[in-house]
Amino acid sequence: MTVAEETFQPSAPVCWCCGGEFEDRDLVRLGAHPEVGVCIGCAKYLQRRASQREDKLRPSWAARVRDAVRRVREWVVGRGWHELPVVGRLLRRIDRHLP
Ligand SMILES: [Zn+2]
Repeated sequence: MTVAEETFQPSAPVCWCCGGEFEDRDLVRLGAHPEVGVCIGCAKYLQRRASQREDKLRPSWAARVRDAVRRVREWVVGRGWHELPVVGRLLRRIDRHLP
């Protein structure tokens, strides 16, 4: 055993999106590149970005409604209301069910 092997300590898995350290079970791995993992929060964020992109490519009345919901979300987050003690908890709970 060499000195390098003795001092090597594996680092915690890192989210490739936000850079945060997570347990491996809390990361979602890419199919063709399993070395790449994103945390659950970033995976949800990417899903919303993908949905937004899809709506721009295929406009419809439902896409316009989802876009309005996104604008309201950005407006609320821009004011920091999602971080308020009581109202923020309610807003985050509602947000879980929005596109
Ligand atoms: Zn992340």
